[in-house]
Amino acid sequence: MFLRELKQPVAVLHGAGKSVIQKLARMGILTVADLLGRFPRDYDDRTRSIPLSAFATGEKVHTEATVLAHEWFGYGRMRTLKLVVADDTARAVLVCFNRAFLEKQMPVGSRVLVTGKFQFRYGVIQSSAFEVEPLEGGQEPKSGMVPVYALTEGLAQGTVRRLVKTALEVSGSRVEDELPPSLLSSRGLLHKAEALRHIHFPASVEEYRAARESLAYEELFFFQLAVARRALYRRQIEIPRGISTGLLERRLRERLPFELTPDQDRSCAEIVQDMSGPHPMARLLQGDVGSGKTLVALVACLHAVESGGQAAILAPTELLARQHAATTASLLEPLGLRLAFLSGTTDDASRREVLAALASGSLDIVLGTHALFSEDVVYKNLRLAVVDEQHRFGVLQRVAMGRKGDMPDLLMMTATPIPRTLALTVFGDLAVSTIRTMPPGRKPIVTHLATTKNAPKVYDFVRKLLAEGRQAYFVYPLIEESEKADLKDAQSMAQELSSKVFAGYRVGLIHSRLKEVDKRSVMDDFVKGRSSVLVATTVVEVGVDVPNAAVMVVEHAERFGLAALHQLRGRVGRGSAQSYCFLVYAEQPTEDAKARLKAMLSTSDGFVLAEEDLRIRGPGEIAGTAQAGALKLAIADPIGDIEILEKARTDAFGIAAADPGLLGSENTVLREVLKRAPPFGEGATGSGA
Ligand code: ADP
Ligand code: MG
Repeated sequence: MFLRELKQPVAVLHGAGKSVIQKLARMGILTVADLLGRFPRDYDDRTRSIPLSAFATGEKVHTEATVLAHEWFGYGRMRTLKLVVADDTARAVLVCFNRAFLEKQMPVGSRVLVTGKFQFRYGVIQSSAFEVEPLEGGQEPKSGMVPVYALTEGLAQGTVRRLVKTALEVSGSRVEDELPPSLLSSRGLLHKAEALRHIHFPASVEEYRAARESLAYEELFFFQLAVARRALYRRQIEIPRGISTGLLERRLRERLPFELTPDQDRSCAEIVQDMSGPHPMARLLQGDVGSGKTLVALVACLHAVESGGQAAILAPTELLARQHAATTASLLEPLGLRLAFLSGTTDDASRREVLAALASGSLDIVLGTHALFSEDVVYKNLRLAVVDEQHRFGVLQRVAMGRKGDMPDLLMMTATPIPRTLALTVFGDLAVSTIRTMPPGRKPIVTHLATTKNAPKVYDFVRKLLAEGRQAYFVYPLIEESEKADLKDAQSMAQELSSKVFAGYRVGLIHSRLKEVDKRSVMDDFVKGRSSVLVATTVVEVGVDVPNAAVMVVEHAERFGLAALHQLRGRVGRGSAQSYCFLVYAEQPTEDAKARLKAMLSTSDGFVLAEEDLRIRGPGEIAGTAQAGALKLAIADPIGDIEILEKARTDAFGIAAADPGLLGSENTVLREVLKRAPPFGEGATGSGA
């Protein structure tokens, strides 16, 4: 890839004028290599023509048409051109916002090629999101897959396409491979030059797939090579450890009103063993919602502190972080531990104070969101990082990489099995502890399905529980009323429930758009029992723990994914009294929605549900949960491309283990690539290598 001419500015390309160069720069595209490295975000399949009359299918129309007339509407700067066109099947209007120049390019009577999505509006078929090109002198319509690039304002698809094409013509064929030849052949991958050509201009879907696979492999390989070297380093280094006799752990256990379950005990023992070994721990603690992972994490923290270090507990949301902070404070402050909270909403003065205390070592445990691992947070002696339910790659990776010299013990906690793969991908290697059995005395949650028509019956049932002093959650898919969808929303339903259905009871409302202080006070009211009903969106999905809450009502349950439903249901059944979950669904759910609701009825086992989820959705769909975007991968999707990832992982670990310094002749290129573009910033390649 790294020919000198590829490092030249895009200006060397014929057709790259000043204003185009400026616009590309705005997107971070400065060199020819940058340009070739921005892969299309989509393709128009122009292998077949789709006539105007087929617009209603929602597919993009792709057809040859004749320009029948030019019309104008609006005045002054708003004056806008409409091209009236027709193909053999229908007549349509192209609304040319900011494209008055098309008047000259597309004279009346000329033949054009039209691509775009059309709608039926004001009695005509029309589109404002279309591409149109003149079909000069009997030119054939463009065929094949046409790349669609991410653009910035004022930059046209055609311009980028032409530049990429030029770049490929000028230097594309001489692009060099970065992967060792042995891998290319053993994995049957394309040479980089070919992969680049085909990813930009594939002649067919198959060609695109093969190119994508090769490029994704390459990307994941370098990612995993960095991870592998880091993991090997972790296994190699020896950290000086103070001694923990378990005194603090014993004192915590004495204060608990219950015994730890055997699974919790075993997990604690495994963790303590890791934490007294010579190398930094990398362990995943998995256990279904409500299985009691938090306590195990606290035990780990106590050992870190007793041996003279600090611990950080990272939660995915502010809400959950605050809840952890409250639980932890009530359990550990009496033992004399010094705790603090840190999140994005912590004000400057308190933040400075916390940072100073962390740096000087006058704090033992800090709890918070990913702010705990931002650039300016320096720990005196961070010995343990606990990561709870964090599925975002970017954040995980920041924790995993640590800062230079930092190599704390890592404990990752999760209630879903998918993050196991995720964790492996980011941390390289990972031991696993599992909590299988729930704390004793839990009654299984009784789950019922109901249609929207029967919602009043559900409300009646809830009213009885409220009268017994229990509390209830109501969850909705939307925060506020929407014109686009005929769905119940949290705001309107909070009104309705508090003024009519549960008049006399206090109803709280919480959703992501509230300020953090307001979220906190609403949550606090519910935790303390001052409000009886909490109306919410999925913000209550993760980890919220209010044992007196006895019923979870999810309205429009057909709209929620299986993982979310399971998490939501897990908010109740946390005490010893009987709890209920009502999944209220609108008439005529889709087949997938039906399957999800049925699965929720049939089991409460999170691992079974996760498998079912995979089956219903197919593995490619899970990607959204990982928010892979944070990882800055250009093409690969670590979840959707799990098979490629696993191959890349095996290869990378094999190479790193055999040649940790990557000094062997075939591997010097790898080392150079990692050095030049460490996938994840400084330190990613491991200072021990
Ligand atoms: P999760 O694994 O979902 O994070 P939590 O740690 O929030 O679960 O625990 C759920 C609830 O179970 C908490 O209220 C906690 O106090 C309680 N709990 C944890 N361990 C036990 C136990 N051994 N016996 C009884 N209750 C327990
Ligand atoms: Mg939890």
